[in-house]
Amino acid sequence: MDDLAIIGSGPAGYTAGIYAARANLEPVLFEGLESGGQLMLTTDVENYPGFDQGIMGPEMMQVFKNQAERFGTKILTETVDSIEKIENGFKLTTSKNTYEFKTVIISSGASANWLGVEGEKELQGHGVSACATCDGFFFKDKNVIVVGGGDSAMEEALFLTKFAKNVTVIHRRDSFRASKIMQDRVLSHDQINVSWNKEVVEIKGEGQVSSVLLKDSQTNEVEEKEIDGVFIAIGHTPNVSFLNGFLELDEKGYIKTGSTTATSTSVPGVFAAGDVADSIYRQAVTAAGTGCQAAIDAERWLEN
Ligand code: NAP
Repeated sequence: MDDLAIIGSGPAGYTAGIYAARANLEPVLFEGLESGGQLMLTTDVENYPGFDQGIMGPEMMQVFKNQAERFGTKILTETVDSIEKIENGFKLTTSKNTYEFKTVIISSGASANWLGVEGEKELQGHGVSACATCDGFFFKDKNVIVVGGGDSAMEEALFLTKFAKNVTVIHRRDSFRASKIMQDRVLSHDQINVSWNKEVVEIKGEGQVSSVLLKDSQTNEVEEKEIDGVFIAIGHTPNVSFLNGFLELDEKGYIKTGSTTATSTSVPGVFAAGDVADSIYRQAVTAAGTGCQAAIDAERWLEN
């Protein structure tokens, strides 16, 4: 039975790997389907301390990965499907195999939310996207909308101005929840308009997005807006489905932590770090911080 499994390969998982490997725990990290996590879908990361000129998200995750591997973290390209308690440890079942570990750190992150409106699913990859970094290039000189009012929506809108002729941010209320600096950049950008109090109720197009139906959330009036691309940036859902009730979750569906140590969960010997256990801060730097805490918690738990 190995000492430690780390489930997930974002900033929390890799940081846990760095710390646990340096503590000689020889951690095994399951990187899952979305290797590198949400930062793989980001452009410039400007607020991670240590990178004074900023760094691209995917490049940053490669650096994290290199650092975790340098100290001996074993990285498996497998997705954990389930976890169960066995004597003195835990059994993980992946897409390829089963493994046994004495402790587990869960850092499986969170995934983008979708609106769930007509046309959204059918037109994904044909004008509907949740990743400007991945798909922005296809909208050179086109008109696009970004749905949402948080930092992600601001970031997507600003990034899209590099390609699109015009970007309209569609928000369901009359104020953004994004940080002031990001709001200011969006509101002062001459390629970006904001449509307040509007909800996308349908995305239309024959094989490619051609328009959206927008409902005014105050008057309920519906208008059709011709558009080439729809970028959805309305938050995230924690990746906990593989747990199948194995751990206690909070009312928002994130893993409950902190009963004994910062990253302890409802099951002794299982720790959680990063976005899967954080509905509030959700920053790369806070995820990395909790990844470090989880590795230290796991190490001390093994000692005891
Ligand atoms: P978020 O802060 O939760 O914002 C989600 C936005 O989507 C909100 O404006 C929300 O509207 C809207 N929304 C949610 N469901 C919707 C629906 N069904 N239809 C229409 N609109 C909907 O999520 P986020 O922007 O992804 O940010 C998550 C966290 O990551 C935040 O802590 C953020 O600061 C951080 N982040 C930071 C950076 C950065 O610092 N560079 C970049 C990206 C993200 P309401 O406002 O009406 O609820």
